Amino acid sequence: MSQHDIGLIGLAVMGQNLVLNMANHGFSVGVYNRTTATTDEFVGGLKNEPADKVHAGTIDRVKGYHTLEDFVKSLKAPRRIMIMVKAGKPVDAVIDQLEPLLDKGDIIIDGGNSDFVDTNRRDKDLREKGLRFIGTGVSGGEEGALKGPSIMPGGHADAWPFVKDIFQAISAKVGPNNDIPCCEWVGDAGAGHYVKMVHNGIEYGDMQLICEAYFILKHALGLSNEELYQVFKSWNEGELESYLIEITRDIFTVKDGNSGEYLVDKILDTAAQKGTGKWMSQHALDLGVPTTLITEAVYARCLSAQKDARVRASQILEGPKDAKFTGDKQQFIDDVRQALYASKLCSYAQGYVQLDAAAKEFGWKLNNGNIALLWRGGCIIRSAFLGDIKTAFDKSPTLENLLLDDFFKSAVAKAQPSWRRVISTAVQLGLPTPVFSAALSYYDGYRQGRLPANLLQAQRDYFGAHTYERTDKPRGEFFHTDWIRER
Ligand code: NAP
Repeated sequence: MSQHDIGLIGLAVMGQNLVLNMANHGFSVGVYNRTTATTDEFVGGLKNEPADKVHAGTIDRVKGYHTLEDFVKSLKAPRRIMIMVKAGKPVDAVIDQLEPLLDKGDIIIDGGNSDFVDTNRRDKDLREKGLRFIGTGVSGGEEGALKGPSIMPGGHADAWPFVKDIFQAISAKVGPNNDIPCCEWVGDAGAGHYVKMVHNGIEYGDMQLICEAYFILKHALGLSNEELYQVFKSWNEGELESYLIEITRDIFTVKDGNSGEYLVDKILDTAAQKGTGKWMSQHALDLGVPTTLITEAVYARCLSAQKDARVRASQILEGPKDAKFTGDKQQFIDDVRQALYASKLCSYAQGYVQLDAAAKEFGWKLNNGNIALLWRGGCIIRSAFLGDIKTAFDKSPTLENLLLDDFFKSAVAKAQPSWRRVISTAVQLGLPTPVFSAALSYYDGYRQGRLPANLLQAQRDYFGAHTYERTDKPRGEFFHTDWIRER
């Protein structure tokens, strides 16, 4: 007998918590995992979970199945099946097993961190077979999955009305009454996973910017962890208020149980990455858009990973000798805050330029204001700042670049002297600030009516007869010069 509102396959941490979130909101969920012992342990263990994790009645709404056949039969029509397995081949493997068991019109939802290229392909393949596919970004980690993630669904638009109630009920909420869901339909095919990829890229940029601010404050001003805590605490009470600033503030308070020293100082300085920041940079190159901050943030992780080489080089290569910061300490802390704000804005501006380019490439109709709202709560990049971005796009839905919005234009103009002081100080002291610097270079490049690419075109024409356009002729007319003869 059909009974469950939705089924979920893949009971690792994300899947389990999404199931509980759905059941806590009153939905009945059938669950399946390849390793059936995991299904039994999860369902059997629910009775031992605390009441804030497993609400009253939730246990009765979750049922495990040992075969895909029984699992599929247990779902209401049209069936809604969410897959939360490892991204890549496992998703295809699960879809292949499901397909023969489903009826036309049934809905498969991939909630993992899939590459949007795979989602484009799966959407097309399943559409041809009469099935409806949704590829959705789910952000916020395991806690978000349980308590309210940011959800970014895209794919077959006809499927959206069938999952909207469930997804909006379980998503994070924002707004004065805490009732605006951080979940809205993003667009066709891989649009949802694309937006999630951009979210993850922006997360890379935000994290690296905070790390650079920390590095400058620590090494230029010599701030202690207690002082860094105070700085980040005050920053979190202003325009930089965000989840990442908040957790950074708290990190400076935690001590290592064994040594009694601050834990952050004990952590090896080599960053890992799962790849979604890299995907965004790679696609920026394919699209030909300058997503320089995120790419620099990816490279910063790559350089950090070369620990042994850096330690060897640190004993050989020289930097500025005895360079010390000598100015007003309080003023400089505020300068760093403003540099962080202006750089962050450039990162989001670039992210949205890439989203616009992708929308054009794939024929998606993206609503940039709604995308800001999706990220406003539940996810890692949630911040007050995203509210201002939503306002900017609501005011001007086709805004070419966030830097051109009146509010942000003035904010950057105000931050600009501080921003330049911080970067020049870091350069003088020999402190690396790749993403702060990339941000300022982007800003300075974007606001130039004329860049040195005239010379570049001349070089290309000189060695390769690649031709050039002229400032005094209509665009689209191409010229070639025999540079050696003309000399
Ligand atoms: P995960 O470690 O990525 O994947 C483990 C799950 O995948 C298990 O249920 C496993 O089943 C299943 N699986 C692997 N290969 C399979 C196959 N060939 N056929 C069937 N099932 C297979 O789990 P996760 O961390 O919960 O993440 C799930 C998805 O959400 C991933 O795409 C991840 O990138 C994404 N995500 C994760 C987070 C996070 O914070 N962890 C946040 C956002 C998004 P068995 O038990 O049988 O091995």
